[in-house]
Order: sequence, then C-alpha cells, then structure tokens
Amino acid sequence: TDFVNIEQLAEFIAFDGQKLLQKLTSMGINPEKISLKEANLISLEYDVKIQHKNEKGNIKQRSPVVTIMGHVDHGKTTLLDYLRNSQIAKGEFGGITQKIGAFHVLTPEGQRITFIDTPGHEAFSNMRVRGANSTDMIILVVSAIEGIQPQTLEVIKLAHQNQVHILVAINKIDVPGARPDLVEKQLKEQGKLDLEPFGGNIPVVHISALNGTNMDLLLELILFESELMELKEDYDSLAEGVVIESRRDVDNDEKSCTIIVQKGTLKVGDHIIIGNNYCKVRSIKDDKKNMLKQAFPSYAVEITGIKELPQSGDVVFALESENKAKVISQRRIKNEEELNSQEEQFIQGSGSKLKF
Ligand code: GDP
Ligand code: MG
Repeated sequence: TDFVNIEQLAEFIAFDGQKLLQKLTSMGINPEKISLKEANLISLEYDVKIQHKNEKGNIKQRSPVVTIMGHVDHGKTTLLDYLRNSQIAKGEFGGITQKIGAFHVLTPEGQRITFIDTPGHEAFSNMRVRGANSTDMIILVVSAIEGIQPQTLEVIKLAHQNQVHILVAINKIDVPGARPDLVEKQLKEQGKLDLEPFGGNIPVVHISALNGTNMDLLLELILFESELMELKEDYDSLAEGVVIESRRDVDNDEKSCTIIVQKGTLKVGDHIIIGNNYCKVRSIKDDKKNMLKQAFPSYAVEITGIKELPQSGDVVFALESENKAKVISQRRIKNEEELNSQEEQFIQGSGSKLKF
C-alpha cells in the first residue's frame, strides 16, 4: 500500500492521536491518506522533537507573525511597502531594507510584529506548503472600491481550513466614492466571517495603504489580537523554525535563506538541520541587515552557512552537536532516496511497523 492512516502513524511514533490530527490538518494532509513521504517526514520531525523535549523551559510572550493576503490589486504590496518604509522613514534602523521575504516593524512602545512578504502569486501556495504554523494571523485586504472578489473568498477558506485568525483591512478608503460600509455588509452576507461591526469577534479596520491612514490602528489591532491569542513560546530550547525563501548572492555566490524562528533561540554557531541538509549557522541578520548573535521566537532572519538552498516550507531544527545533525541529515537523505525509488515498503507485515 502507498498510504498509511493516522492510527498507524500515531502508533508508530507513539504520538498522541489528537495532536497528530491537528498537525496533519495544519499541513493540509488527509488523515486517512497519508503518503509515505509525508509519514516519513513527520516521523523524522518527531524524532528530532524527542531530542528537544527534555529541556527546561523559559516560556515567554512572542510577537505575532502576520501574512497579508487578498485579491490581486486590492493593495497588498502597497500596504507592505508602507509598513516597511514607515520604519525606514522613522530612522529607527538606519539601513536600507532588503527584500528577504519577511520583515518586522516596531511600534513606538517597542512592540514587534513580523510580516511575511511573499509575491502575490506565491502567497497561496506558500501558505499551503508552510501550513498554518508559519503565520499567526492573516490580514485580509479588501478594496473598498472593488469589494469581495474570488481570491477574497479563497483567503477566508484557507484561513478557516488552517484555523488561522483573520483581521479584515478594508483598503483604498481615500478614493472618492469608496464605501467601506458596503464591503462590510458584503462580507457579512457571505456569512463566513463574524465581523466586529456586527457583534462578532473579527476586527475590521478601514485603511488607505497609499496614504497610511489608520496604520497605527491596524498595528494596534494586530497586537491586541495577538494578546488574546496568548502567543507564548519557549525561549531557551534549541531553535525550531521554517524556511520562507532562499537565495544565492550573484556577487560572491554565497547561499542564504530567510527563516522564521518559531521556537527556542537560534544562535550563531548552532548546528541545524534544514530540509534534509545540515550545517553550522555562520551569520544571522535581521531584515535591516543588522548582524545578530541570536534570534528569538517570531524573528524573521537571514542566515548564512547553508550548503544547499532549502525550499520554502522546509523545517529547521537546531541540535546539540554536529554529529547528531549529520546523522539525522544522512538518514533524511537516505530515506528520501529510498522513498523516491519506491523500494521501501512503509508497512511491514501486520505489525504496522515502519521501516527506515
Ligand atoms: P496587490 O496586487 O494587492 O499587491 O495591489 P497593489 O498594492 O499592487 O495595488 C494595486 C493598485 O492599487 C496600485 O495602483 C496601487 O497604487 C493602488 N492602491 C493600493 N492601495 C491603495 C490605496 O489605499 N488608495 C489608493 N487610491 N490606491 C491604492
Ligand atoms: Mg502585489
């Protein structure tokens, strides 16, 4: 058989079935039809997680990670650019921001928000690839002129599937004749979102991404929502994260990638598994090109030291030693090769034992 079901996988990795179901759902995997490749990935990830388990915790608040989505031309890029540039304009960092697929803003109170910035056409597939885990909240941008469009509905569907919080930003309110109130009504009539203006719990903010109107309000709402979500994470454990994008420098051929740290603290010199490969983190930079010694949960950072270019959605794990990283990497590569050549049987006999 080419598929396993959730019971078989849960039994094999001795993992709580309910938690596994959540994980599969967040990855968009049908629990009744888990492919060998998916099962293998999950098993290996769990394998690493066992090693991460016995550490003392230092659970603290982490900042929200936000993705902006919406129908084409409704103002996603304009909004991202405004947020990014507002930070440069304030002179808080002094640097020229580089587009590394994610950036952060700091409020005057010093609160941090990480934004994932993917090209529009990639946003959907990336969300699927990365699963719900890479973003805490979706800002659904809807133009006050064009109103609800097909991709608006797709975003709502995607958010529901992945159980990601939504915050609605009705954009282009500066345009004469804009009727954000009508868009609210439209959204209400769809019956998919329980909007605050109608007594629900999904916040709506009217903005002009072009002029920056109500940007402070938007940021406040994001932070307010994230407080309700109680985003807490262990800062002391070995780092875990996910790759947003990767690139090769045209001048010096150096490979780098942007990752979101999701758990623990990533440090320069850490030995990490990234995708199937392992490496030692050579440098960590934020989106303003500041060199960091370490990156905390919810930080989006660019790292170097990688030997191969990882793919968007690849998982990152730090390990205690180079040797462990090497062993796991080798096993992952071997497993993938075997799975690809279809020589391995996932289940042996009736005992539901997976073979590695
Ligand atoms: P995207 O496809 O969602 O990334 O949309 P863009 O950010 O590229 O915006 C599409 C068009 O709408 C561009 O011409 C923008 O200048 C314009 N636009 C975006 N936001 C606003 C806004 O708040 N007000 C006005 N008047 N135009 C906007
Ligand atoms: Mg765009």
